[in-house]
Amino acid sequence: MTYDVIVAGGGCAGVAAAVASARTGAKTLLIERNGCLGGAATMRNVATFCGLYTLGEEPRRVVNGVGGDILDRLRNMGALSPPQRFRGVFAPFDPEALKLVLDELCADAGVEVLFNLQITGAERENGRICSVATAGHGGAQTFAANAFVDCTGDGDLAAFGGAATRYGNPDGVNLGTLGTRFGGIAPGTEVLAADYAQAVHSLYPNGTDVTKDKSVMIRVPISGDLIAFVASAAYDPRDAVSQSRAEANGRAQAWRYLAALRTLPGCENAYLVSTGPEFGTRESRHIEAQRSFTWADIEARRHFDDCIAIGAWGAEWHDRETYKSSFDYPPERGSYQIPLSCLASRDTPNLFGAGRLADGDRRAGAAIRVMGTSLATGQAAGCAAALAAENRFDARATQDLLRAQGAFLTAEETVAA
Ligand SMILES: Cc1cc2nc3c(=O)[nH]c(=O)nc-3n(C[C@H](O)[C@H](O)[C@H](O)COP(=O)(O)OP(=O)(O)OC[C@H]3O[C@@H](n4cnc5c(N)ncnc54)[C@H](O)[C@@H]3O)c2cc1C
Repeated sequence: MTYDVIVAGGGCAGVAAAVASARTGAKTLLIERNGCLGGAATMRNVATFCGLYTLGEEPRRVVNGVGGDILDRLRNMGALSPPQRFRGVFAPFDPEALKLVLDELCADAGVEVLFNLQITGAERENGRICSVATAGHGGAQTFAANAFVDCTGDGDLAAFGGAATRYGNPDGVNLGTLGTRFGGIAPGTEVLAADYAQAVHSLYPNGTDVTKDKSVMIRVPISGDLIAFVASAAYDPRDAVSQSRAEANGRAQAWRYLAALRTLPGCENAYLVSTGPEFGTRESRHIEAQRSFTWADIEARRHFDDCIAIGAWGAEWHDRETYKSSFDYPPERGSYQIPLSCLASRDTPNLFGAGRLADGDRRAGAAIRVMGTSLATGQAAGCAAALAAENRFDARATQDLLRAQGAFLTAEETVAA
């Protein structure tokens, strides 16, 4: 089975890549190991977009194109909350609505989606990736294409296909955390992060039974359920033993966090709706791209001739040693340009990476990994791959396709929230 473009992984980056590629007319296959699209948004309880809006007093939306279409469809279903400000600007959504929206968006664009297939290998020929191997209940299957986009978050396709990758960055790898969703909170109850942290402290004063106390408190639309990111673990997702320990330990902690929540007024009848279901890996492999995007680029608000997306999130770092979190804002809490060269493999000309495996240094990577920005880098990688499939890849042509698809490429195009 041969395609123009194969996209590996159906999270925010992968869906945007596949839809963008298919909208150029390229025959596009999206392979997802789970039974639904959305990645962390639907499988890790990360039910709120970051990176869509600048973080100043008057936020501006910096992501459009496929991302804009997703927001419109969620809004039409009453499944998207207006932007909310904590340390950043968040846009919570209902994950079940997102699953449907992403299915429909892919179908409308003509993307062929295959669920429940895990990419387990990739063949390389003459310095290019030529096919991927998958495993499913039907056994092993191989799919060939002219160009590939790795949106697995863990860089599976790139690594299996012999492209240059690295795990995290030499000065650190962002900590993983289990997203936990609680229901049964009395209507009108506001749960403040500081109150929750105090409740966790009071119940577990020596901190040995739980790993973190501070989290944003996200309330999702429709259900009003509360999502917190607390139980954390410094595991390596490439190592099944260490990830398995994290999963089981995180689930055990979730019940302790529930007990702490129940001590707050209005939360006495709270219950666990879901843990994960998967532990949330913030950072894993990065593709080694033609350029590594740096925090210095963001601080300088560097102009890139090959700009393909606008970022707005800060360097959100969750430390593996201390389990403490920090957040560095971009200059003036404004937007910055993201270059195509941080998505294009440096040694495999028909391979692109997007979302959290885009090439960034410790702080830039921690800024551009979020889902709003992943929608934008995914769309860019999809357009670039569609061009590469016809040996027509260059930055200017990618920008032309992105503009035709409604993506924002300059700060001037961004719109008031
Ligand atoms: C605890 C936590 C809290 C976060 N909070 C926020 C937040 O509030 N807002 C925000 O915007 N971002 C947040 N993030 C970051 C965000 O979730 C990710 O950076 C973002 O989802 C990256 O998108 P992606 O498409 O690159 O990867 P993912 O969302 O991880 O998607 C990758 C997809 O690839 C699939 N896949 C993986 N390997 C294979 C394979 N071998 N074969 C086939 N399919 C495969 C996976 O099943 C998955 O669907 C948070 C992350 C964590 C862990």
